Amino acid sequence: MLRRFFSYYKPHKRLFIIDFTCAVFVAILELAFPIAVQQFIDKLLPTENWDIIVLVSVSLLAVYLLSTFMQYVVTYWGHKLGVNIETDMRQDLFQHVQKQSFRFFDNTKTGHVMSRITNDLFDIGEFAHHGPEDLFIAFMTFIGAFTLMFNINFHLSVIILIIVPILIWLITYSNIKMNQAWKSMYEEIAEVNGRVEDSVSGVRVVQSFTNEDYEMSRFTKDNYNFRKAKVGAYKIMAFVHSNIYMMMRLIVLVVLVYGAWLTFNNHMSYGELVSFILFTNVLFNPINKISALLEMYPKGMAGFKRFIDILDTEPDVQDRPNAKPVKNLKGYISFHKVTFGYEKTQGPVIKAMNFHINAGETVAFVGPSGAGKTTISSLIPRFYDVDSGQITIDGIDIRDMTKRSLREHIGIVQQDVFLFTGTLRENIAYGKLDATEEEIREAARRAHLEEFINELPDGYDTQVGERGLKLSGGQKQRIAIARMFLKNPPILILDEATSALDTETEMIIQQALNDLAKDRTTLVIAHRLATIRNADRIMVVTKKGIEEEGTHDELVKRNGVFANLHKVQMH
Ligand code: ADP
Ligand code: MG
Repeated sequence: MLRRFFSYYKPHKRLFIIDFTCAVFVAILELAFPIAVQQFIDKLLPTENWDIIVLVSVSLLAVYLLSTFMQYVVTYWGHKLGVNIETDMRQDLFQHVQKQSFRFFDNTKTGHVMSRITNDLFDIGEFAHHGPEDLFIAFMTFIGAFTLMFNINFHLSVIILIIVPILIWLITYSNIKMNQAWKSMYEEIAEVNGRVEDSVSGVRVVQSFTNEDYEMSRFTKDNYNFRKAKVGAYKIMAFVHSNIYMMMRLIVLVVLVYGAWLTFNNHMSYGELVSFILFTNVLFNPINKISALLEMYPKGMAGFKRFIDILDTEPDVQDRPNAKPVKNLKGYISFHKVTFGYEKTQGPVIKAMNFHINAGETVAFVGPSGAGKTTISSLIPRFYDVDSGQITIDGIDIRDMTKRSLREHIGIVQQDVFLFTGTLRENIAYGKLDATEEEIREAARRAHLEEFINELPDGYDTQVGERGLKLSGGQKQRIAIARMFLKNPPILILDEATSALDTETEMIIQQALNDLAKDRTTLVIAHRLATIRNADRIMVVTKKGIEEEGTHDELVKRNGVFANLHKVQMH
């Protein structure tokens, strides 16, 4: 997994090298500073030569300016590296999620995918920048500082060496405690947000029951829980910070006292003592970094693992290696002993189903809900693959076609029409991204949308969706139909396309649909029998499979399932 992680550094090798080199340089300067001070006190001060002191100070200034620039590079370019990696990962993830088949989305919550794409990658990005670099720099500074400290005084260094692990443990432990406190704070704020969302979206219910006080009391409880959690987190934070601060001062104090004794007994010069104290300060930096990493590493890696898990989920509907793109399918559809179930545990929804639909024919599927009508229509564009049997179009197994070319031949209009945030024009043109203005207007006209759009002040540029115009079910349906006119597929699937509409709207849309169905192989799924009167053939689908098949009049005469449905709906 680490190798996978580092592979994301590859495209940004140059950035990494520059950042890393500067970081090493900054670290070396940090180590050099106490030594410089020591030389300054022990060697320069006794000479009382002002000229040399000025000269040394000026060169120190130059070195500092350079170091400042390096600091800038490390902070800016280093974070840029992290952001670049995060962006690359997000690209990979989005591309992969788009490729996933329907089964993946059946089993994955949208919220989880979203949090993967935002939060997890955010953590990983932070880690990608700070992880490897900080680890190296921290160890380098740490070892460097200790080597130089041992060089100055052995006993003092041993004392520090004993205290340091305790300090690391203390800081890491505090970090864990603090994270727990922040986590419970986040949980409480999630509760509060959930409550607000509920009450606001349910405000009509709240007000009609005059339950405002009840809502307020529930909200108050959550809001106060949040306060408790957040105050608690700050309390721990204050405790931790002050204690760590105290520990660090204590260490300096120990060095000071023991160091004083050592200088009195001529085991150490003044310059060495000052230098040693400065070194203990230099040490605190890597200690902080290492304990931050100890805590960041599992979090970043856990996020990375969730990320990898998605990347490694192969879509279960894939192109066969020898799949060929098909062109100009006529739309002769056959099911040969098709068996399919969503979950192994639940058994098949469709069992050994056989039927044929001629090119250009309009076939209606009717039957009780849950019988498997939508399932049948999902198998044709390979949203799912059959468990056994075969579906052919124009005699070719659909698994021998590329998914893309197959789906280019099929248009689906469902009960729910999804509109994207954007203009009406963009939403219609979704059926053919390179459609000309002429084509878009023609499609809108044939979908009976023109009149409605022309009455809008912004016409085709009207924003729809979330922050724009709210469209009625019938209007949305017409946009879906306009998309189909643009896409112009030889095979058309209408799955309860008009079921949610009132009878009058349905009649208008039905005209557009009849126009659309002309010269195409059309599967109509509907529960209102009036809708399918003109179908060439009707198939009655029940749990048992296709129970009856024939024209409208034939089925009425047969006195079976369809005749019963017909009787009920006519009264
Ligand atoms: P119809 O369109 O005839 O109302 P469906 O084809 O939607 O019926 O559903 C047939 C059966 O398959 C139902 O029992 C339904 O619960 C089940 N089903 C439909 N979609 C899924 C899915 N995505 N995952 C699991 N089971 C499903
Ligand atoms: Mg259905």
